[in-house]
Amino acid sequence: MITKEQVIDALRKVMDPEIHRDIVDLEMVRDVQISDQKVKVTIALTVPNCPLQDSIAQDATQAVEALGDDLSVEITMTAMTPEEKKHLMEKLRGAQQKQPEPLAGQMNKVKAVIAVMSGKGGVGKSTTAALLAAGLRSKGMRVGVLDADITGPSIPKLFGVHETPIGGALGIIPPQSNEGVKIMSINLMLPEEDDAVIWRGPLISSAIQQFWNDVFWGDLDALVVDLPPGTSDAALTVLQSLPVSGCVIVTSPQDLADMVVRKAAKMAEHLNIPIIGIIENMSYAVCPHCGEHFEIFGKGESEKMAQTFNTQFLGRMPIDSALTQACDTGKVENYTNPDFDAVVAKVQAAIQ
Ligand code: ADP
Repeated sequence: MITKEQVIDALRKVMDPEIHRDIVDLEMVRDVQISDQKVKVTIALTVPNCPLQDSIAQDATQAVEALGDDLSVEITMTAMTPEEKKHLMEKLRGAQQKQPEPLAGQMNKVKAVIAVMSGKGGVGKSTTAALLAAGLRSKGMRVGVLDADITGPSIPKLFGVHETPIGGALGIIPPQSNEGVKIMSINLMLPEEDDAVIWRGPLISSAIQQFWNDVFWGDLDALVVDLPPGTSDAALTVLQSLPVSGCVIVTSPQDLADMVVRKAAKMAEHLNIPIIGIIENMSYAVCPHCGEHFEIFGKGESEKMAQTFNTQFLGRMPIDSALTQACDTGKVENYTNPDFDAVVAKVQAAIQ
C-alpha cells in the first residue's frame, strides 16, 4: 500500500511549466486521498482553466502511476483562492529577491543559464560543457561559458583562450573564442594559468557572483556554467549563487551503482532546478577498422536514471581520441560528432 508521503514525493517531479518550480513546492497540491489502489489528487491552479492544466494533469498522473503497476489515478483540477494565490506570489517574490541582481550596468540579458553538473569528477563534465556551448553557438545562438569549477578550471584551455579579461565601462569584458563564445574563468585572472586556487565557500560564492554581476555578458541566449564536480559544497554554493534555469547531468558508465548520479539529481531537485536531461559520456568506443561499438565499461544506467527523475536522456558520447586531442589543443570548437549534435538539438529545444 503506498502512502500519502510517497504520492507527494512523486508529485515533486511535476513542474509548473511557467514558474519552473514543482507543484508541491508551489503548494498547488491541495489534497491526496488513497483507498486500495486508487489515488485521488486535487491540484489547485493559480488561474482557473489555466491553459497548462492538461499538461500538469498528465505529468501528475504519470508521476503517481510510476509508484505502482496497478494504481488508478484521478486528478481533479481546481483553482487557488485569492488568499492562497497572494501567499504564493509573496513566496515567489521572496525567492526572487534572494537571487543576484544582474549588474554590469543592469545590461546583461541572459535568456537561459544552463548548469552542467556531474556526480563525481573525471566523467567529462567540463568537456561536455564546452561542447554544449560550442554546439549551441554553431546553431547561431549567442553563448557564454562561466567556468565555475573554481578549483579546477579548464574551460579557457579547451577553447584555446588565454587573454586576460579587460575592464570596460560596463564591467569586465569576457574574452571570446574563435567562434565567438564569451568566456569567463578564474584561470584568466590568475598570474600563472597553473596557479592553484584553494578557496572555501564564501570566497567561491563571491567570485561566482562577481562573474555574474560584474562581467558584461550583454545579450546571451545561453550561459553554460561548468560547475565544480560532484555534490560538494562548492557545487551547491555555485548553484545557489546563480539564477540557474536548468541543469544537464553528465554521467559515465563507471559511475558506481549510479548512486553518485542520484545524488546530483537529488541536489538539483532539492534546489528546485529543473533537470534538462542526462548525458552519458565515455559510453562506448568505436573500432577504427570495422566501426563496431564496444561498451568497454558495460551498459550504463543513465537512460533508466533519466526515467527515474522524469527527465530526458540526451544521448551517449563515445570515447574518442579526436575529442581528447581537440581539447588538449584548445580546439574543442572544431570537434564534430553526430551523437553530440543530437544532444545539442535537445538542449536547444528545452531552453527555447
Ligand atoms: P570532468 O570535468 O568531469 O572532471 P573533463 O571534462 O575534464 O572531466 O575530462 C577528463 C578527461 O577526459 C579530459 O582529459 C578529457 O579530454 C577526457 N575526455 C572527456 N570526455 C571524453 C571522451 N568522450 N572521449 C575521450 N576523452 C574524453
